[in-house]
Amino acid sequence: MVKEVSIARIDCAAFTIPTDAPESDGTIEWDRTTLITVEVEAGGRTGLGYTYDHSAAVSLIAQTLAPEVRGQDAFAVEEVWAAMVRIVRNIGWPGVAACAISAIDIALWDLKAKLLDVPLATLLGPARRRVPVYGSGGFTSYTDERLADQLSGWVDEGCAFVKMKVGREPEKDPARVEAARDAIGDAQLFVDANGGYSRKQALGLANTFSGLGVTWFEEPVSSDDLKGLRLIRDRGPAGMDIAAGEYGYQPFYFRRMIEAGAVDVLQADATRCGGVTGFMRAAALCDGFEIPFSSHCGPSIHLHPACAALRLRHMEWFHDHVRIEHMLFDGAPILRDGHIEPDFSRPGHGLVFREADAERFRIQP
Ligand SMILES: [Mg+2]
Repeated sequence: MVKEVSIARIDCAAFTIPTDAPESDGTIEWDRTTLITVEVEAGGRTGLGYTYDHSAAVSLIAQTLAPEVRGQDAFAVEEVWAAMVRIVRNIGWPGVAACAISAIDIALWDLKAKLLDVPLATLLGPARRRVPVYGSGGFTSYTDERLADQLSGWVDEGCAFVKMKVGREPEKDPARVEAARDAIGDAQLFVDANGGYSRKQALGLANTFSGLGVTWFEEPVSSDDLKGLRLIRDRGPAGMDIAAGEYGYQPFYFRRMIEAGAVDVLQADATRCGGVTGFMRAAALCDGFEIPFSSHCGPSIHLHPACAALRLRHMEWFHDHVRIEHMLFDGAPILRDGHIEPDFSRPGHGLVFREADAERFRIQP
């Protein structure tokens, strides 16, 4: 019986991919996305991980994290995770370092599942075999026509929920939300302000949006304003969930958010919060506090852990990342009837990076 396999190699690379149109939300604008990939090799198998982050993650991985990982036991993911967190103490754990650790952790989980020749969801222990997703995009840079086309397109593909951005021009938001509402039939409409509103603006708009059938209000105020989130949650309309958590990089971030009573549904992003390890810890917190859980962005990388997260309600099917993951990864999940499901015939998370297709996007940080 194999008990230990030493990690022989760890490599990383960065690719910057332009968006298909200029995009914006309640607080920032962007026209490109940087993907950081990590490969970890042990026992003749290779694990793949990735994150969406600044290219600075590449030098952090190469100079600081890789020396901690090389030579460690590929099965001892918790031990490697703890070593990575320790070594970034003076650099700062949240942000770039947490994303870099996440990409490595995802690669380690993929590697471990491959060494055991099982799908990652099987290794983690599935609570379900397929996961509902909500179509997510609806950028504030879109015309009402593109907004309606995109959201109704996801409804046509079976999505029971779709999400749009708000918060850039608050006075225009009720009309944009109404245009979206008119386009999506019986589907539930979610809005995400990315912290773009003040507390009182958000409270007023919560009632307006609720009147237009909105059932999910994400980051109505900054997710750092836990009392503000709690205020909207307590005083806002019934039937509207308050959600946040996408900027959680550390386990105690989620604990504080839940303990403050700030959210009805916790969100977490495995490419930021410490990979599969961090995501499953956030899932366990949701179980302990008996609140629903939802994954943020990067659907291909969340699919297997999402199958194993007991209280998971749904996953985000984010326009930019769906596009990139289908361009650059074999095995990226296909949306069917509003759900995605793992390919249980493949070991690991089942994703294979198409390096040749990505070459034109490669950057040298
Ligand atoms: Mg969001």
